[in-house]
Amino acid sequence: MTTQFVKINDVAAKESKAILEEAAKIIKNGGLVVFPTETVYGLGANGLDENASKKIYEAKGRPSDNPLIIHISTPDDAEKYCYTSDIYYALAKAFMPGPLTVIMPKKDIVPFTVTAGLDTVAVRCPANEIANALIEEANIPIAAPSANLSGKPSPTRADYVLEDMEGRVDMIIDGGECEIGLESTIVMIYGDSLTLLRPGAVTYDALCMVCEDVKIAPSVLEMLKENEKPLSPGMKYKHYAPESPLVLLDGDEENVIEYLRNEMKEKKCAILCYNEEIDVLSDAVLLPIGEKEDLAAHAHSLFTLLRDADKKECDVIYAHLPQKNGLGLALYNRMIRAAAHTIKKV
Ligand code: AMP
Ligand code: MG
Repeated sequence: MTTQFVKINDVAAKESKAILEEAAKIIKNGGLVVFPTETVYGLGANGLDENASKKIYEAKGRPSDNPLIIHISTPDDAEKYCYTSDIYYALAKAFMPGPLTVIMPKKDIVPFTVTAGLDTVAVRCPANEIANALIEEANIPIAAPSANLSGKPSPTRADYVLEDMEGRVDMIIDGGECEIGLESTIVMIYGDSLTLLRPGAVTYDALCMVCEDVKIAPSVLEMLKENEKPLSPGMKYKHYAPESPLVLLDGDEENVIEYLRNEMKEKKCAILCYNEEIDVLSDAVLLPIGEKEDLAAHAHSLFTLLRDADKKECDVIYAHLPQKNGLGLALYNRMIRAAAHTIKKV
């Protein structure tokens, strides 16, 4: 399959309209289109077409028991695909369009290939203008997981999509770098309460402003025990992983620096360091992740740096173990999984 690679700079421009029409046509005809969102790039297909959604699993090499998120252009459209509730509309009012995915009981119109056999469906209304315009133009919900090969870091730039997906999809729309850089927050509604299945830019604290009872699923913070079934099937897979081993360092900054200096004498180390540490670690391959307190910057560059770190062919990649507050919870969740839970106390 040849993959068309097209760029949209301004969604309102005349030439963008033609691209979006072409992309929507591909989706309506059962093809695959990669598009930017504010979280990461999505690999989209007709969310109501069983065969089209099967193609997503093939293109990604994704296990068929890992369900897809369907993307809608306005929160009210959820009504067509699932059984909503007051709490859904409270979440929609607070966070949509935006980086929040909500899981609710599905209606028959949604094929089981999309939900991997589950009776529930995950719904999101993205804020990115290109994503939103594409869904509106196609006039159908777009099923879309992250546009990486299964197991690789989610792509936050179109050139990373091309590395993974050239020849596997009909079209890639380059809309520049994704603003947030981490996948959406996922919650499941249970009566009047919520369970957080995947942390993201909509934080735990923000969810608590809308709902009094927000639980955190165990798989967010811990390794699953053997044969344990997570509420979110995707959480059981090793994910976001670079090829070189990633080790997370847990300790005071001085101890971390001392440990790294020793390691650097013996091994070729890539280090995801804070900007403030650049001078003291200058003998290693450095991948600055932002200023220490700037968690949004860390989120924005994490997946890019994991991909870049691999290209440096180092013996080991080191990073700080994130704190679990605010956006830190999402960073912690992604990083412990990229590191296969390898945490070194220093
Ligand atoms: P991705 O789109 O690749 O970022 O992954 C989507 C995530 O949503 C995966 O971790 C899935 O397991 C999760 N997900 C999608 N639909 C459901 C559902 N119905 N129930 C639980 N988790 C879901
Ligand atoms: Mg993914």
